[in-house]
Amino acid sequence: MEDFLKRIFPLIDSYRDEVISLQKELTSRVALGPDNGGTGEHEKTAFIQSIMEGLNPSRIEEIHAPDSRAEHGYRPNLVALWEGKKELPRLWILSHSDIVPPGDLSLWERDPYEVWVDGDKLYGRGVEDNQHGIVSSVLAIKAILESAGQPTRPVGIAIVADEETGSKYGLSYLLEKRGQLFGDTDLIVVPDGGNETGSMIEVAEKSMLWVRFTVLGRQCHASTPHKGRNSLAAAARLIVALEKIKREFSDGDELFRPPISTFEPTKIEANVENVNTIPGKDVFYMDCRILPRFEVDRILERCQEIAGEISNSTGVKIKADIAYREEAAPPTPSDAPVVEALSRAIHLVTGREAKPMGIGGGTVAAFFRKAGLPAAVWCTSPDTAHQPNEYCLIPDIMTDAKVFATMAMT
Ligand SMILES: [Zn+2]
Repeated sequence: MEDFLKRIFPLIDSYRDEVISLQKELTSRVALGPDNGGTGEHEKTAFIQSIMEGLNPSRIEEIHAPDSRAEHGYRPNLVALWEGKKELPRLWILSHSDIVPPGDLSLWERDPYEVWVDGDKLYGRGVEDNQHGIVSSVLAIKAILESAGQPTRPVGIAIVADEETGSKYGLSYLLEKRGQLFGDTDLIVVPDGGNETGSMIEVAEKSMLWVRFTVLGRQCHASTPHKGRNSLAAAARLIVALEKIKREFSDGDELFRPPISTFEPTKIEANVENVNTIPGKDVFYMDCRILPRFEVDRILERCQEIAGEISNSTGVKIKADIAYREEAAPPTPSDAPVVEALSRAIHLVTGREAKPMGIGGGTVAAFFRKAGLPAAVWCTSPDTAHQPNEYCLIPDIMTDAKVFATMAMT
């Protein structure tokens, strides 16, 4: 191992108290966007800015995405840059400041905004999603500055707003207004998804399609079904009939986990309030994660055709329309420089072989990929995002900080 890494790694290992105190400070600054009932990420971002200013960046800038619903009328995005000893492509690590609400508080063992420690586990809303990435990137640069004075390649840390509710005021805004920050040879890592061993480098996503089925029958008393048309019974037939889509679009791709497209009925809206009424309207949804080889429009067409068949056989009216749709971004090539640099660094730090993979969709890296910037999503984590009692592991944060430091130094 190179000498400088021998100095950096023990330094990172000595940061346990910093990991805990940073996580406590970050978690107590609740960063909920207006769509999640909050006022924005200002307090948390200001705290991160103060930490990064202490690390002597060559440039630090807060970029305001106008949002009249948020505090001060904007959402804060933060970018800090450090120069490298050599003129190499920049290493970017992008995390997000916003969190999702804690949900049902009775499911939490303690106050979600007050971090508690149990051995190597830190609990609290946001500790993994995405403070894990914030802390590991900040500690990587701190260790480099303390031991080597300067990274070998330029480093950028970006902290964006609004990842949890669409990124319009976050990465999407940043790329639109300040796209020149990112070069197409830069190594862009998004530590916002991974597995427990750190062996998954996410490079591709499926397209997402949420189909809303509105089934209209005729409401009546349950004792006289002949006077109505039961929308729930028709919806049930439709759900069963939709199973054939799985068979029609069953071709797989081993890059992805799972290696096939998925089509799952999920949410059903409340219908009648009492048991003795036959419902006249039911609305349910199907979540489709579609491999890039299939056309989203074709899936939607098949949903509509199958809905038509059930409509004909039951006499109810059925509408199938789009509740949400997101076309898959072009994948990051499995041999892209960022994937190779990450794999090398992971191997050096943990001895493990990491593999490029595709997942079901919905990471912020898609915005980079759509802009022609090959980004990789990677971190070592138990994947407790959005759950009650969300937790992260202190050793995972240190491992990831070492991987980022290795990428910055080699
Ligand atoms: Zn996240």
